[in-house]
Amino acid sequence: MGPNYHTLFSRTEIDARIASLGREIRADYHDRSLTVLVVLKGSFVFAADLIRAIDLPMNVEFIGLRSYGDRINTSGVVEITLDVKHPLAGEDVLIVEDIVDTGLTLEYLMKNLSTRNPASMKLAALLHKPARTKVHVPIDYKGFQVPDKFVIGYGLDFAGKYRNLPEIGYLDPPPLDH
Ligand code: 5GP
Repeated sequence: MGPNYHTLFSRTEIDARIASLGREIRADYHDRSLTVLVVLKGSFVFAADLIRAIDLPMNVEFIGLRSYGDRINTSGVVEITLDVKHPLAGEDVLIVEDIVDTGLTLEYLMKNLSTRNPASMKLAALLHKPARTKVHVPIDYKGFQVPDKFVIGYGLDFAGKYRNLPEIGYLDPPPLDH
């Protein structure tokens, strides 16, 4: 990594936090069966570790979203690029997201999913960047709070790169389009 890269959370810290979230989720749902809904692409690394920390029967589904606008002027216009085939009616849905920034993407997704009549809907988000909140989204299971930086690694990209970085960090000075 270059001189502008700074570590926020090491692999060890991430592992410990996820193990704790997994226990919390297991306790909350008792022996109910879950539908884990992974929001692509950024969440796939977190989801891969989180599901293995949850000792419950589950079905894993994926949904692809694209938000329009740049980082500063998030429009809140969201397109579903890959939809869930599995009907969600009557299911206990646990959404797995990488980061809640303005909250606009999740607000859109949760409104959309609620029209499909799940029995319950909760959100697990690895990261929360409260400095940029535009709409409040309740995060039931939160990994870490992050400062107002453009974070990368552990599934999160910058222009398609760094998803394979095993830890979470940020670039300062930030990328030009931030
Ligand atoms: P929101 O709609 O909450 O503003 O943004 C949600 C999406 O924006 C996330 O799922 C993620 O894809 C992207 N995003 C927001 N902040 C960051 C960041 O700091 N780093 C990266 N890599 N993506 C981000």
